[in-house]
Amino acid sequence: MSGPVSSAYLDHSASTLMRPEAFEAMVPWLTDRPANPSGAHRLAREARRAIDDAREIMAIALGALPGEIVFTSGGTEADNLAVFGVHDRRGGVVVCAATEHHAVLEPTESRGGRVVAVDGCGVINLDALAGALDDEVTLVSVMVANNEVGTVQPIAEVVEMVRRLAPAATIHTDAVQALTWLDVAALAAGTDLVAVSAHKFGGPKGVGALVVRDGVALAPRQIGGGQERERRSGTQNVAGIVAMASAAEAAVATRSATVERVARLRDRLADGLLAAIPGAVETGITAGDRSPRIAGTCHLCLPEVESEALLFLLEEAGISASAAASCASGAMEPSHVLAAMGIPRHLAFGSLRLTLGWSSTDADVDLALAVIPAAAAQLRSYAVSP
Ligand code: PLP
Repeated sequence: MSGPVSSAYLDHSASTLMRPEAFEAMVPWLTDRPANPSGAHRLAREARRAIDDAREIMAIALGALPGEIVFTSGGTEADNLAVFGVHDRRGGVVVCAATEHHAVLEPTESRGGRVVAVDGCGVINLDALAGALDDEVTLVSVMVANNEVGTVQPIAEVVEMVRRLAPAATIHTDAVQALTWLDVAALAAGTDLVAVSAHKFGGPKGVGALVVRDGVALAPRQIGGGQERERRSGTQNVAGIVAMASAAEAAVATRSATVERVARLRDRLADGLLAAIPGAVETGITAGDRSPRIAGTCHLCLPEVESEALLFLLEEAGISASAAASCASGAMEPSHVLAAMGIPRHLAFGSLRLTLGWSSTDADVDLALAVIPAAAAQLRSYAVSP
């Protein structure tokens, strides 16, 4: 199958490239080390040791103790374990922000929880949070960084407020989008539960972790062999866990250089598109200040452009990107994140999420700047033709 001559992958928030060190660490556990880490022989002990080493590395990356790391099948399972795990054990009321990923939002809503408003930039409204907190609240979940628009939440302020107004509550933070860009160990230091997912920071898909701080009461979602200290039964994904730890180590070690380099690429991309596409709006950014965003995220709304048609043209030209609107029940609906931020529907339907990652280059930005303005102009010309 032939495709465009050049290409740019601009969907790193959906899933990023595996780091070479993570791939290398993973291969032996897929090829010549078959043992189940729960077994009794030497090969099993080796697998167990590899998991324990990975646990120590993840603990350092996340600012936790090794015994507080619970390996999961990814971010969704980690978030589900946090919300359902606390609610199943303690009952009470779950509270989350309106822009949480579905992996938190749906468990919260399914348990009749309270959803807290955000402002136009996607930052949680602290007055609304205060209003949602009382003695009945057993879990509060506020993400570190948003997957659609990249907004970073004021976790320290959230923690301070929850400890004051709902002192019995457990605090969960979804850090799935954060590890490449932010010091998760420091930002999540005051929280009780922290979710991460390997494929967002250079590890493989299908593996993640939940930090469960000592003393946090959590009912398991999976019971059986009692792995992960009875908090998550099931044979561990040894290769995935080893690779995740390697990716986390690399992500943390290279973070400041990555942030500096990629923020420059992202700024060139966003500034170039804003200059070249009349009426383009950078979502939730006030006065050009991108500091409340993770460095890899460029989110725009293009009036009179329909996201799906634009994504089709971009794909034809070799660009992989995403939008933040989905088709539900036959009618286009803006994403819950854009709706919560109060983005008008006509803008939300022209949303475009371009996300860069640790491996992004100037060539990616060059191609995007060459292709996207022309594609938007083409779609607008159809819109005005009789
Ligand atoms: N939380 C956030 C913020 C995410 O962006 C994602 C994935 O997009 C998830 C949770 C789910 O993670 P996973 O794909 O590992 O299930």
